[in-house]
Amino acid sequence: MQRDDENPISFGPTMRLGVLGGGQLGRMMIQSAIDFDIRVEVMDPSIDAPCSHLTHRFVQGDLNDAEAVFAFGQGLDVVTIEIEHVSVEGLRLLEASGVRVIPKPDHIDMIQDKGTQKAFFEKHGIPSSPFKLVENVSEAGQHGFPVVQKLRRGGYDGKGVQFLQDAMEASAKGFDAPCVLEHPVDIDKELSVIIARNTAGQTASFPVVEAVFDPQANLVDYLVAPAAISDEIAAKAQTLALRVVEAMDFEGLMAVELFLDRSGELSVNELAPRTHNSGHHTIEANQTSQFEQHLRAVLNLPLGSTQPIHPFGAMLNLVGGRDAQGTPVYSGLSEATRTPGVHPHLYGKSRVKPFRKMGHVTVTGNSLEEVQDLVMRLREQLTVNGKS
Ligand code: ADP
Repeated sequence: MQRDDENPISFGPTMRLGVLGGGQLGRMMIQSAIDFDIRVEVMDPSIDAPCSHLTHRFVQGDLNDAEAVFAFGQGLDVVTIEIEHVSVEGLRLLEASGVRVIPKPDHIDMIQDKGTQKAFFEKHGIPSSPFKLVENVSEAGQHGFPVVQKLRRGGYDGKGVQFLQDAMEASAKGFDAPCVLEHPVDIDKELSVIIARNTAGQTASFPVVEAVFDPQANLVDYLVAPAAISDEIAAKAQTLALRVVEAMDFEGLMAVELFLDRSGELSVNELAPRTHNSGHHTIEANQTSQFEQHLRAVLNLPLGSTQPIHPFGAMLNLVGGRDAQGTPVYSGLSEATRTPGVHPHLYGKSRVKPFRKMGHVTVTGNSLEEVQDLVMRLREQLTVNGKS
């Protein structure tokens, strides 16, 4: 296989791409990599991770162990991530040994800590709710009450984030660890912009997505794109996302999570330097999916068009039922797939647990009402339970 001289990166099986994390995001990345005939190799702590049977080489290993990450990535052309909780030290060693690591280890390092993210926003004048950094629960009142308390490290999917109403609640359930205390935003809508930037500095962002949360599961329940916001606010959200990646000199694909408050102001909540739940609909709804775009960015290929190919797209997470345990049993899917524009994506997880993300369904349509009505119907029809 000959390489394209103008670009050190090439299509074809001589390109070895390592991915840290073998969950559903890695799995959907592999689907795109197949089209580029790239050899994808994956490391994940779980032997039956969603990618484990779908990759050219699967390594079971601790993503936070520098030596394990280095051993996995040595000799590969490019290493990327599908989860940001990985050993930055291991990635730095790989970079020093000549492996192209995208996103850059320094960027992953900054994003792993919600405290350094907030400091970055402050330094670059990127609007984000006022905050204070504290070391332990005895300081949980330092930003007043009510307050949003966030673990600086290790949180995901809303775990590690809680509201504290008063000092009594803080002493009863406050996290006793280094935290960010944030002023609560009076949220009207939760938005996200997925933006890619390659080494050449080319950027491309997808239309703004609106996420609707299920407070019980503390997970995105469904999302719609484009968000039901004015063109002016959409343009502002895109500009904010662009400012973030430019200020960082970021390379790769980034999800910028934003809040629109009830006075119409936008602020950045947090960053995810990878493909994101809020971009799954792009597989069916846009000219280039977020997974292909991620590959293009990490391989320094020209970025693809993010134009929608359907006026509206929506995505419903399929999560385990509240008592679900054991081997997953999916109900209602065959009926759902009768409807044009409905596409299921199951993640291949061998065990279901309450509220665990097991898959998603994408819906495309011609109007916001049409896709929302369909999502609401699917929400009633589709269940994931377990059998032992
Ligand atoms: P995670 O990294 O676990 O996804 P987030 O920082 O996104 O955590 O917070 C999870 C959810 O908590 C958000 O989607 C939002 O609903 C709520 N939240 C987070 N920060 C604030 C805030 N400052 N004000 C109000 N709600 C917030």
